Amino acid sequence: MLSRTLEILNTDADAAAARVVLFDFDGTLSLIRAGWFDVMVPMMVEELAPLGTGESEADLTEIVEEYVGRLTGRQTIYQMIEYADQIRKRGGTPKDPLEYKHEYLALLMEKIRHRREALREGRVDPDEMMVPGSRRLLDVLRDRGLVLYLASGTDQPFMREEARLLGIDSYFQGGMFGALDDYENFSKKILVERIIRESDFEGSEFLGFGDGFVEIEAVKTVGGCAVGAATDEPDCVEMDPVKRARLAAVGADWIVPNFNAHNELMSALFPET
Ligand SMILES: [Mg+2]
Repeated sequence: MLSRTLEILNTDADAAAARVVLFDFDGTLSLIRAGWFDVMVPMMVEELAPLGTGESEADLTEIVEEYVGRLTGRQTIYQMIEYADQIRKRGGTPKDPLEYKHEYLALLMEKIRHRREALREGRVDPDEMMVPGSRRLLDVLRDRGLVLYLASGTDQPFMREEARLLGIDSYFQGGMFGALDDYENFSKKILVERIIRESDFEGSEFLGFGDGFVEIEAVKTVGGCAVGAATDEPDCVEMDPVKRARLAAVGADWIVPNFNAHNELMSALFPET
């Protein structure tokens, strides 16, 4: 059941009125950072375990997986703030969440360095490091005259560099926005509100694509429609059931495991064509 190519949750929805598209980056288009979850979770469990609360490693893993998953899509710092709170709750003295973020990024970079280098040196086809069907989807949306924005919880300089490495930066004529040091002044919600304020786009003219509930919620809140990408990284063949449940709960109109069912997705989004 979960291998289906397009799940329609809201049969009344379409994107015929859409003029602007908000894309999440990691897990929605890019697979460069695939596996980040399995770097972040053990890093946190390892530090929580010795605090001597009697919780088993399995208990802690479950707790960490829950909040890391829940906060996915927001800037990384929020996962680290929650992590620091979890240490404090168990009687430990946490470091500055920013330090944890740097530790995590160093660990993750070790894991993904070879992917970035392979792309930079042209040793790998960029499409192999993207969710299947991404480039064709971007092409078609751009050719329909929609204005595309990229919005990411990953640090902006990394995200922009990785979009360039994948050769998709030129699609985002609206701009590419990621996490900055003054994290309180950026969120996907703030970005959507700013686009509405500073352009002539209405909330109902937004179409969102994301694998996390944050970006889906940001678009649904203003009256737009949204495609949930329940990508099971890195293969992205079957739907990831955890992502799927989260995306459905926050009001995704459609859910896909990847963008391979191009024609099906296009006729759901743009029924008149
Ligand atoms: Mg994502």
